[in-house]
Amino acid sequence: MMAARDMLPDLARRVRSGDRGAVARALTIVERASLDGELHAPAAAEEAGVQALLAGVIRAHVVGITGAPGSGKSTLIGHLAVHLRRQGRKVGILAVDPSSPFSGGAVLGDRLRMGLPADDPGLFMRSLASRGHQGGLALSVFGMVRVLDAAGMDLILVETVGAGQNDVGVLGVAHTVVLVFNPAAGDEVQALKAGIVEIGDVMVVNKSDLPGADEAYRAIMSVLGLSPEAPGLWRPPVLQVSSVRQSGFAELADAVEQHRRYLDSGPAGAQRRRTQAEWELRAALLAALERRYLGAARESGLWGQLVEQVAQGRIASYQAALRLVGDNRPGDPTP
Ligand code: GDP
Repeated sequence: MMAARDMLPDLARRVRSGDRGAVARALTIVERASLDGELHAPAAAEEAGVQALLAGVIRAHVVGITGAPGSGKSTLIGHLAVHLRRQGRKVGILAVDPSSPFSGGAVLGDRLRMGLPADDPGLFMRSLASRGHQGGLALSVFGMVRVLDAAGMDLILVETVGAGQNDVGVLGVAHTVVLVFNPAAGDEVQALKAGIVEIGDVMVVNKSDLPGADEAYRAIMSVLGLSPEAPGLWRPPVLQVSSVRQSGFAELADAVEQHRRYLDSGPAGAQRRRTQAEWELRAALLAALERRYLGAARESGLWGQLVEQVAQGRIASYQAALRLVGDNRPGDPTP
């Protein structure tokens, strides 16, 4: 058996050289370790090896793509990836959606490979089972982005569903957030009301071959028009895209590139990196807390007792959590 220190550089080195098997292995290790919050003995040496990839400034441009289920995100990502590959860019795809067609590999088979060699070394795709707790999920996304970055991807597309609180956590990884809307779905109006547009850097009216696309475009434009325009501030473009008509992908790729340049050329880029670091650290903290307290509490039986007490309404969950972390002050009950 190989000593741990011999394993470490090897896996990291193979990922850096773009070895597909090594990248796949590293992604699996990162996902499992982040979600389970536990080390697995047989893989411990490799896990430590992957650690070597988990620090450093992310060089790839990370694009979060979010929208309601059925809004056509997966289809759009497939076409966008083909477009980017034709430009010679290396593309990584992470789908945080168990219902995504990416999960079954169908999209890869049918669409992604259109015009691409069967085993394109410049394209890497993985879907994440969104099991486990949110801290672990977000942490695994950050870790997997870092693995794909180490493997030399130029762009990493992260697909997430909706734009709820949890998705915002996952989207914390993105340099550029693309919001995907549908014509006549009514979700524009809902999203606009909920202030979701605020997290978008690029707005897409998808399936623009369907009726209602112009109305959706105008609705989004009018809401964006309400925010004050200032020199040096990014104004999200609104694009019409259709996979059926194969239209809008050049414009979308261009808008993402423009936003990357905007981030690189002013204070917004550094600010975005700090925000990303804050999300990543927060996700890591949640995972570390679970790792530290959950296992021990389960073993000692305290976990089971507290679950029972919370279930019976005898103790507030936050008070129970304070007991788990050894803080027994009758303190602040607000989380
Ligand atoms: P996701 O759940 O957001 O990933 O959506 P999918 O990519 O799975 O697409 C949902 C449905 O919309 C599928 O039946 C697609 O064939 C269809 N769809 C995707 N893009 C377009 C488009 O540009 N135009 C039309 N008319 N349908 C589309």
